[in-house]
Amino acid sequence: MNQHLPIAVIGAGPVGLAAAAHLLERGLEPVIFEAGASAGAAIEQWRHIRLFSPWRFNLDAAAVRLLEPRGWKSPRPTALPYGGELVDDYLTPLAELQPIASRLKTGARVIAVTRAGLDKTHVRDRDTAPFLVRVEHGDEVRDYTVSAVIDASGTWSTRNPLGTSGLPAIGEERAAERISSPLPDVSGRDLTAFAGRRVLVVGAGHSAANTLINLAQLAKEAPETRILWAVRGSTAAKVYGGGDADGLPARGQLGSRLRRLVESGTIELHTSFGIRSLTDSEDGVTITSGDGRSLVADVVVPCTGFRPDLDMLRELRLDLDPAVEAPTELGPLIDPEFHSCGTVPPHGAKVLAHPEKNFYIVGMKSYGRAPTFLLATGYEQVRSVSAALAGDQLAADTVHLELPETGVCSSDAGTSCDVPAVAPLAPQLAASGCCSTPEPSFVGFPTGLAHGRSGS
Ligand SMILES: Cc1cc2nc3c(=O)[nH]c(=O)nc-3n(C[C@H](O)[C@H](O)[C@H](O)COP(=O)(O)OP(=O)(O)OC[C@H]3O[C@@H](n4cnc5c(N)ncnc54)[C@H](O)[C@@H]3O)c2cc1C
Repeated sequence: MNQHLPIAVIGAGPVGLAAAAHLLERGLEPVIFEAGASAGAAIEQWRHIRLFSPWRFNLDAAAVRLLEPRGWKSPRPTALPYGGELVDDYLTPLAELQPIASRLKTGARVIAVTRAGLDKTHVRDRDTAPFLVRVEHGDEVRDYTVSAVIDASGTWSTRNPLGTSGLPAIGEERAAERISSPLPDVSGRDLTAFAGRRVLVVGAGHSAANTLINLAQLAKEAPETRILWAVRGSTAAKVYGGGDADGLPARGQLGSRLRRLVESGTIELHTSFGIRSLTDSEDGVTITSGDGRSLVADVVVPCTGFRPDLDMLRELRLDLDPAVEAPTELGPLIDPEFHSCGTVPPHGAKVLAHPEKNFYIVGMKSYGRAPTFLLATGYEQVRSVSAALAGDQLAADTVHLELPETGVCSSDAGTSCDVPAVAPLAPQLAASGCCSTPEPSFVGFPTGLAHGRSGS
């Protein structure tokens, strides 16, 4: 690796900034490209949502080591911050520190990464050739030459489509004006777009549940508001969770509230509603299901999950799980088809490596289409990756067991977190015993599905 060239970090979210802090500690030179106007631009979009993991799991150690000597005071470790607090009380102060600020380029969207002078098919000197990162700064496009690339660009900007089969529904793009962001602040910042309107929420996860409950709150003040909810499955039971008996009380409470709102008619639930098409007109958008039913709404909220943007990595040699689009060794451990588990054992550079040397995908994007990523996992990823780039293989390979182990495995763990036998585990993953403790905890991102989708 050419030590005279900087290392590109794509994205100034929590994991990208943590990567920069770790690289600086190692004496390496990061250059951070952030598409948004400021650090934490994706979280800014869901600043009204409360995190389910407390501060102590949301702070990166190297970032804290940069912040504390400069007078920053850590929030109470057990408090659960809102997204906005994560930005205001942690990411913004971090991004404003001189060592980070001087290396951070905002309004800088990476549109492609390749090897300088080599397309994907060329192998000679590939491992030693620098990377070329193409960046849009407003109307201007510039190429940067760097020695390594850490892609921490998240998945927020690429939501899953509304249509079934993984494709946009027919007419979805044309109806774009009727489709909101994935987690609108329906009773706050975005209230005027929702009050008194016909709103269709699509999806069967936590985002859908939160949005529906907030809409019901809004409907109390704006009774004209009509709340429609479409799910693909034949029931919404998995969103309701186990009520009082739920292994995760917060999920249980959320689910019970939702169930009551559906049963009382405040929310109109439409099951087995796989969306085939959207037709926009002056009177609203008509959403039609595969079996010919139709709903009319003024606005559609797409709580359909996210997928990684791999287009900008097209010229790189990647090794991704064919289903989850996470690094091949990681994919089977987080595949939502088989897992309700919110955490995986800590893992680092080895598991995240691609055939393209010195290129890593980290953070939310490293989980591909799996919805269970945790910040604490990402911080350990970038600690290890930075060590690997600094040539400290021992530190890179010694992944630390600092993560909460229980995650949101269902309480009969041992089955729910079994790894499907599709790929051998990396030694450190196998050794650390995913979900060895059956106690559920609040840390983790529940899919709401015991044993993953295959269990339902
Ligand atoms: C509603 C919600 C609640 C969550 N709650 C928790 C929780 O309680 N605990 C937990 O551990 N995790 C939680 N997560 C999961 C995860 O930790 C967060 O999504 C977190 O923001 C991921 O951090 P990241 O740095 O990987 O990505 P992001 O925060 O998405 O940051 C990526 C950054 O890259 C920028 N970017 C994107 N594309 C480009 C490009 N092409 N060029 C340059 N910049 C680009 C974006 O603008 C953004 O600033 C939650 C996620 C969501 C959506």
